[in-house]
Amino acid sequence: MSRSPVWHPFTQHGLEPPMKRIVSAEGAFLTDEDGNRLFDAISSWWVITHGHRHPAIMAAIRAATETFDQVIFAEFSHEPAETLARGLIELAPAGLSHVFYSDSGSTAVEVALKMALGYFHNCGEKRDRIVVLEHGYHGDTIGTMSTGERGVFNAAYEPLLFGVDRLAFPEAGNGQHTLDMFESFCRSGRIAALLIEPLVLGAGGMKMYNPHVLAGLREIAKLHGCLLIADEVMTGWGRTGSLFACEQAGISPDILCTSKGLTGGSLPLAATLCSAAIFEAHFSTDRRKTFFHSSSYTANPIACAAAVANLDVWRDEPVMQRIGQLQQALSVNLKRFAHYRRFTDVRQMGTIAALDLAVPAGGYLAEAGPRMRYLFRDRGFVIRPLGNVLYLMPPYCSTLEDIAHAFDAIDEVTGIVTETA
Ligand code: PMP
Repeated sequence: MSRSPVWHPFTQHGLEPPMKRIVSAEGAFLTDEDGNRLFDAISSWWVITHGHRHPAIMAAIRAATETFDQVIFAEFSHEPAETLARGLIELAPAGLSHVFYSDSGSTAVEVALKMALGYFHNCGEKRDRIVVLEHGYHGDTIGTMSTGERGVFNAAYEPLLFGVDRLAFPEAGNGQHTLDMFESFCRSGRIAALLIEPLVLGAGGMKMYNPHVLAGLREIAKLHGCLLIADEVMTGWGRTGSLFACEQAGISPDILCTSKGLTGGSLPLAATLCSAAIFEAHFSTDRRKTFFHSSSYTANPIACAAAVANLDVWRDEPVMQRIGQLQQALSVNLKRFAHYRRFTDVRQMGTIAALDLAVPAGGYLAEAGPRMRYLFRDRGFVIRPLGNVLYLMPPYCSTLEDIAHAFDAIDEVTGIVTETA
């Protein structure tokens, strides 16, 4: 067979074997072209919440295609977008009153940054700096890379990235240091917004921090008139054990970004929710105060219909109960690793379980990740370690047996990798 012309994301094609094709997806499993069933332990990059191809969401998509494809979203609206916006406002933390649609997590964050800067611009206040958390990840566009952790992933693009102020990650027992840093950045009077992943930093290594720190940051932002942007692209839709992670800190952000699980993972869609004050700052008879952002596929009606069906699933099915059971299954299985010397940090928040594999320094790290990935795949699991961080973030339909098997695989694979290091 000739080489595929497809260029895959985050893939070094010079090292990877040809891609296996997935031929179908159902529940918590993918089936490849050789008929192998793979447990999707990372929910296909964290998008699948209830399971692949939830029947009600698939039915809503089929029904929407009878009347819609893409329709222009400036000058016109449509019922799926209207219903979804109302539903989102009802479910989201209090105080968020407007919904702006886009297509991915990255664009949801780009929109949030533009809303924040636009707010101060239209209010005639000179605030143009963004504060972020060390180890953060917000996407792969130029703006979101600028706000994320710098490293090998974005070194080539460095000349185009803008500067931000970075807070130290609030390690356990050291939250006050992070709060003090934020307070001192705020005193400059230049801070437009704090952009933060609430409670769990995903791509930065499933780093978890205390809800009290998030509540403290909210307080400081309010005190200094700086906006809080919650990037709930990964943490939203139940991942941390509550619908949105912000709930656990008892806070409402000024702007909230959601994508991934918004459609249950079925179709690409994103929404950036904001407070009335931010909308009002752009509401004017002066066209220069318009929110200048769009993309061709804004509010795709079929994706919106899938998201409306997802909201119905949350309302009609015992989703929180499934999350509770999954949470319990992860916790029981994690316990057996608590005293393993090969793991340095075993942790969990909601449906996210993570373990740091103790690895010798040096070039080892580069090879351990892909090596484990292949070993997992040979055993029927899609598990992609982030460097030396192993994690599971399974769909909520996963059974106790699926979870136990995934942990058996982690035990075996990390055993192989550490013995032959
Ligand atoms: N924010 C967070 C917290 C994410 O985890 C991600 C994706 N992993 C993004 C933004 C970017 O989302 P997307 O890949 O859909 O652009």
